[in-house]
Amino acid sequence: MNVLDGERMSGQLDARGYVPAGEDEDADVVLLNTCAVREKAEAKVYSALGVLGRRKRERPGMVIGVTGCVAQVEKDEILERAPFVDFVLGTGQIERAGEIVEEIRRERRRVLAIDLPKDSPVYRFEQIRRGSPFQSAVTVIEGCDQFCTFCIVPFTRGRERSRRSAEILQEVRALVEGGRCEVMLLGQTVNAYEDPDESFGLGELLLRVSRVPGLKRLRFLTSHPSLVDDALVDAMAAGTPIAPYLHLPAQSGSDRVLYRMKRRYDRTGYLATVARFRAAVPGIALSSDFIVGFPGETDADFEETLSLMREARFSNVFAFRYSARPGTASARWGREKEIPGDVAAERLGRALALQEQIQSEINRALVGQRFEVLVENRDRKGLLRGRTACNRVVHIENGDGVAAPGSYVEVDICRGLPNSLIARIPVPVTAMPEGPPW
Ligand code: SAM
Ligand code: SF4
Repeated sequence: MNVLDGERMSGQLDARGYVPAGEDEDADVVLLNTCAVREKAEAKVYSALGVLGRRKRERPGMVIGVTGCVAQVEKDEILERAPFVDFVLGTGQIERAGEIVEEIRRERRRVLAIDLPKDSPVYRFEQIRRGSPFQSAVTVIEGCDQFCTFCIVPFTRGRERSRRSAEILQEVRALVEGGRCEVMLLGQTVNAYEDPDESFGLGELLLRVSRVPGLKRLRFLTSHPSLVDDALVDAMAAGTPIAPYLHLPAQSGSDRVLYRMKRRYDRTGYLATVARFRAAVPGIALSSDFIVGFPGETDADFEETLSLMREARFSNVFAFRYSARPGTASARWGREKEIPGDVAAERLGRALALQEQIQSEINRALVGQRFEVLVENRDRKGLLRGRTACNRVVHIENGDGVAAPGSYVEVDICRGLPNSLIARIPVPVTAMPEGPPW
């Protein structure tokens, strides 16, 4: 979501004749697009601002803006702590970035724009400067109404607002016509989507988008386990171009912790949802997020998380140490529930080690299978690297001369590593020249 916000703001500056500066020393305008989900990300903002403050002393005409989630929650505090910042732009005001930059250059005044809209989002999507020539993200819903007790997102992104499906379809058609055949539908709780006109949900939206001619792969991120419905499972079962990959954050394997996180599902319910997808979508890959060291998490709770990981066998896991965020319910529970840093770090290490072992096993079992890969770029060794529809990273040993970034190729998996697969493009069997008649 943040990357897409960055692309939207870059596009607005492009449209006003700005060009990217190689380094921030040469820039006339610097926008610091920020993340508040964990404390570490937020701390980086203030250290980056320190550097920018020194730059501005050398180039007083420079315009500096802070945008995104930290801007949304810190508001005027940024303007107070960093007097050289010209504007603070919240997550609901991204569409105004270009016009505000122009206004400041003209009038030299400070601007604070942090209202969170309540209406269905509308974008000038033709203006977005897309990072990739063959993949793109499309927002379908903004905000979040879940209020998980650890999470700052409902405060930084506001209430849920779904975009009109007609506009989503228009954007996807334009993207595919421009060569971007892989599309990812985005939302903090993407399966809370509800079309404002016809009231259908994500399942129907996926089916409608999947009918856009020329679309090769359709993904979506992030689904909330408690909002999965039959329509979503059925849509995924319809298959190509809907990719057989689902990110379904569990956060914990312990019922006690899930309840205190206010996740609205329990371990049994989560595993039942996993089983539904596995039964409906052959070869589906599932990934998840986990938080370790949540306030009050006991050793036994953490063991439950490990056992859930063993049971669900995710293709990929993002695990984080709990970070107390201002304004959230869990941050108000007091210090006695806090898990000491070394205990949380040790749990994180164990969770990641277990997942590495599971991934190695899963990836080794894929050796010999054939997958279609969208080639994205090159790895450090210069090999072409891409992803399968089920979102697995593949390095292609013999891709040169046959494939290039942007192309789709069939590959045979020859090795499985913990985080990626090594593959070869099958060499066509050339017919034997006709031999002598004996
Ligand atoms: N909406 C998604 C969901 O419900 O799963 C996740 C959005 S959040 C930006 C991405 C991930 O960050 C979460 O799944 C969670 O694991 C992690 N996260 C959120 N708040 C956190 C916190 N206070 N400390 C550590 N990790 C956190
Ligand atoms: Fe945060 Fe996701 Fe929970 Fe919303 S559903 S509060 S974004 S973790």
